[in-house]
Amino acid sequence: MKYEDYIMNVPDFPIEGIQFKDITPLIGDGEAFQSAISDLAEFAKQQQANKVIGPDARGFIIGAPVSTKLGIGFIPVRKPGKLPREVLTFDYQLEYGSNTLCMHKDAIKPGDKVVIMDDLLATGGTVEATINLVEEAGGEVVGLGFMIELVDLGGRAKIKDYPIKVLMQY
Ligand code: AMP
Repeated sequence: MKYEDYIMNVPDFPIEGIQFKDITPLIGDGEAFQSAISDLAEFAKQQQANKVIGPDARGFIIGAPVSTKLGIGFIPVRKPGKLPREVLTFDYQLEYGSNTLCMHKDAIKPGDKVVIMDDLLATGGTVEATINLVEEAGGEVVGLGFMIELVDLGGRAKIKDYPIKVLMQY
Protein backbone atom coordinates (compact mmCIF):
# COMPACT_ATOMS: atom_id res chain seq x y z
CA MET A 1 0.00 0.00 0.00
CA LYS A 2 1.27 3.49 -0.91
CA TYR A 3 0.53 5.32 2.33
CA GLU A 4 1.81 8.64 0.93
CA ASP A 5 -1.36 8.87 -1.18
CA TYR A 6 -3.33 9.34 2.05
CA ILE A 7 -1.21 12.11 3.62
CA MET A 8 -2.04 15.76 2.98
CA ASN A 9 0.61 18.45 3.31
CA VAL A 10 -0.73 21.67 4.87
CA PRO A 11 1.69 24.60 4.54
CA ASP A 12 1.98 27.12 7.39
CA PHE A 13 -0.06 25.17 9.97
CA PRO A 14 -0.24 25.71 12.92
CA ILE A 15 2.29 28.53 12.39
CA GLU A 16 4.15 29.98 9.38
CA GLY A 17 6.99 27.84 8.06
CA ILE A 18 5.65 24.47 9.26
CA GLN A 19 4.73 21.88 6.62
CA PHE A 20 2.03 20.04 8.57
CA LYS A 21 1.52 16.39 7.61
CA ASP A 22 -2.19 15.63 8.02
CA ILE A 23 -2.82 11.93 8.68
CA THR A 24 -6.62 12.22 8.88
CA PRO A 25 -7.20 11.00 5.28
CA LEU A 26 -5.16 7.88 6.12
CA ILE A 27 -6.97 7.08 9.38
CA GLY A 28 -10.26 7.95 7.69
CA ASP A 29 -9.76 5.15 5.15
CA GLY A 30 -10.56 1.75 6.67
CA GLU A 31 -8.20 -0.24 4.47
CA ALA A 32 -5.24 2.15 4.74
CA PHE A 33 -5.63 2.55 8.52
CA GLN A 34 -5.93 -1.20 9.07
CA SER A 35 -2.86 -1.86 6.92
CA ALA A 36 -0.77 0.80 8.68
CA ILE A 37 -1.75 -0.54 12.12
CA SER A 38 -0.94 -4.12 10.97
CA ASP A 39 2.54 -3.05 9.80
CA LEU A 40 3.29 -1.30 13.08
CA ALA A 41 1.83 -4.17 15.14
CA GLU A 42 4.03 -6.65 13.24
CA PHE A 43 7.07 -4.59 14.25
CA ALA A 44 5.93 -4.43 17.90
CA LYS A 45 5.46 -8.21 17.86
CA GLN A 46 8.94 -8.79 16.43
CA GLN A 47 10.36 -6.65 19.25
CA GLN A 48 8.49 -8.87 21.76
CA ALA A 49 6.82 -5.88 23.39
CA ASN A 50 4.37 -6.46 26.23
CA LYS A 51 3.20 -2.82 26.45
CA VAL A 52 2.47 -0.05 23.94
CA ILE A 53 2.83 3.59 24.89
CA GLY A 54 1.29 6.46 22.94
CA PRO A 55 1.92 10.14 23.63
CA ASP A 56 -1.02 12.58 23.76
CA ALA A 57 -2.90 12.88 21.43
CA ARG A 58 -2.12 11.35 18.03
CA GLY A 59 -0.05 8.62 19.72
CA PHE A 60 -3.36 7.35 21.12
CA ILE A 61 -4.77 6.92 17.60
CA ILE A 62 -1.81 4.75 16.58
CA GLY A 63 -0.84 3.06 19.84
CA ALA A 64 -4.23 1.87 21.09
CA PRO A 65 -5.17 -0.17 17.97
CA VAL A 66 -1.65 -1.66 17.85
CA SER A 67 -2.05 -2.84 21.46
CA THR A 68 -5.49 -4.39 20.92
CA LYS A 69 -4.28 -6.16 17.77
CA LEU A 70 -1.53 -7.82 19.83
CA GLY A 71 -3.58 -8.30 23.00
CA ILE A 72 -1.11 -6.29 25.10
CA GLY A 73 -1.69 -3.27 27.33
CA PHE A 74 -1.77 0.39 26.28
CA ILE A 75 -0.34 3.21 28.41
CA PRO A 76 -1.33 6.82 27.70
CA VAL A 77 1.33 9.50 28.13
CA ARG A 78 -0.53 12.77 28.69
CA LYS A 79 -0.26 16.51 29.11
CA PRO A 80 -0.16 17.83 32.69
CA GLY A 81 -3.36 17.78 34.76
CA LYS A 82 -5.05 14.93 32.87
CA LEU A 83 -3.97 11.78 34.71
CA PRO A 84 -5.74 11.37 38.06
CA ARG A 85 -3.04 9.64 40.14
CA GLU A 86 0.67 10.16 40.94
CA VAL A 87 2.74 10.82 37.79
CA LEU A 88 6.30 11.00 36.49
CA THR A 89 6.87 14.16 34.38
CA PHE A 90 9.33 15.28 31.67
CA ASP A 91 9.74 18.71 29.96
CA TYR A 92 11.00 19.11 26.37
CA GLN A 93 11.08 21.38 23.27
CA LEU A 94 8.86 20.78 20.19
CA GLU A 95 9.31 21.75 16.52
CA TYR A 96 6.87 24.49 17.51
CA GLY A 97 6.68 25.44 21.23
CA SER A 98 7.45 23.38 24.33
CA ASN A 99 5.61 20.66 26.20
CA THR A 100 5.47 18.57 29.36
CA LEU A 101 4.46 14.92 29.34
CA CYS A 102 3.23 12.80 32.26
CA MET A 103 2.74 9.09 32.86
CA HIS A 104 1.20 7.29 35.82
CA LYS A 105 4.03 6.27 38.16
CA ASP A 106 2.76 2.68 38.40
CA ALA A 107 2.00 2.23 34.67
CA ILE A 108 5.18 0.27 34.01
CA LYS A 109 6.50 -2.69 35.95
CA PRO A 110 10.28 -3.27 36.07
CA GLY A 111 11.23 -5.49 33.13
CA ASP A 112 8.31 -4.43 30.94
CA LYS A 113 9.26 -4.34 27.23
CA VAL A 114 7.71 -1.25 25.75
CA VAL A 115 7.16 0.03 22.21
CA ILE A 116 6.37 3.71 21.74
CA MET A 117 4.00 4.60 18.88
CA ASP A 118 3.29 8.05 17.48
CA ASP A 119 2.05 9.55 14.22
CA LEU A 120 5.19 11.43 13.33
CA LEU A 121 8.89 11.78 14.18
CA ALA A 122 9.99 15.43 13.79
CA THR A 123 12.71 16.74 16.15
CA GLY A 124 12.44 13.61 18.30
CA GLY A 125 11.66 15.61 21.45
CA THR A 126 8.35 13.88 22.14
CA VAL A 127 9.69 10.36 21.74
CA GLU A 128 12.83 11.21 23.74
CA ALA A 129 10.64 12.52 26.59
CA THR A 130 8.55 9.34 26.43
CA ILE A 131 11.68 7.14 26.46
CA ASN A 132 12.84 9.02 29.58
CA LEU A 133 9.54 8.34 31.33
CA VAL A 134 9.65 4.61 30.48
CA GLU A 135 13.26 4.20 31.60
CA GLU A 136 12.74 6.20 34.80
CA ALA A 137 9.88 3.80 35.60
CA GLY A 138 12.19 0.78 35.09
CA GLY A 139 10.87 -0.33 31.69
CA GLU A 140 12.90 -1.34 28.64
CA VAL A 141 12.21 0.48 25.35
CA VAL A 142 12.38 -2.26 22.69
CA GLY A 143 11.16 -0.23 19.71
CA LEU A 144 9.78 3.02 18.32
CA GLY A 145 7.13 3.11 15.60
CA PHE A 146 5.87 6.05 13.54
CA MET A 147 3.71 6.53 10.50
CA ILE A 148 5.89 9.42 9.27
CA GLU A 149 9.50 10.58 9.69
CA LEU A 150 10.48 14.15 8.72
CA VAL A 151 14.07 13.29 7.84
CA ASP A 152 15.48 16.84 7.63
CA LEU A 153 14.57 17.57 11.26
CA GLY A 154 17.10 14.97 12.38
CA GLY A 155 15.03 13.38 15.15
CA ARG A 156 16.53 9.97 14.40
CA ALA A 157 19.93 11.07 15.79
CA LYS A 158 18.36 11.36 19.26
CA ILE A 159 17.00 7.79 19.17
CA LYS A 160 19.69 5.94 17.22
CA ASP A 161 20.18 3.36 19.99
CA TYR A 162 16.64 1.97 19.55
CA PRO A 163 15.04 -0.13 16.78
CA ILE A 164 12.82 2.14 14.66
CA LYS A 165 10.00 1.42 12.21
CA VAL A 166 8.58 4.17 9.98
CA LEU A 167 6.01 3.76 7.19
CA MET A 168 6.83 6.97 5.28
CA GLN A 169 9.72 9.42 5.03
CA TYR A 170 9.64 13.05 3.85
P1 AMP B 1 8.78 15.99 17.72
O1 AMP B 1 8.69 15.96 19.22
O2 AMP B 1 9.44 17.25 17.24
O3 AMP B 1 9.39 14.75 17.13
O4 AMP B 1 7.31 16.14 17.20
C1 AMP B 1 6.49 15.08 17.22
C2 AMP B 1 5.06 15.43 17.46
O5 AMP B 1 4.65 16.72 16.99
C3 AMP B 1 4.28 14.41 16.69
O6 AMP B 1 3.58 13.66 17.65
C4 AMP B 1 3.37 15.17 15.79
O7 AMP B 1 2.06 14.91 16.21
C5 AMP B 1 3.68 16.64 15.95
N1 AMP B 1 4.29 17.26 14.76
C6 AMP B 1 5.50 17.86 14.71
N2 AMP B 1 5.77 18.35 13.51
C7 AMP B 1 4.72 18.03 12.73
C8 AMP B 1 4.39 18.24 11.34
N3 AMP B 1 5.23 18.90 10.52
N4 AMP B 1 3.21 17.76 10.90
C9 AMP B 1 2.38 17.10 11.72
N5 AMP B 1 2.61 16.88 13.01
C10 AMP B 1 3.77 17.34 13.53
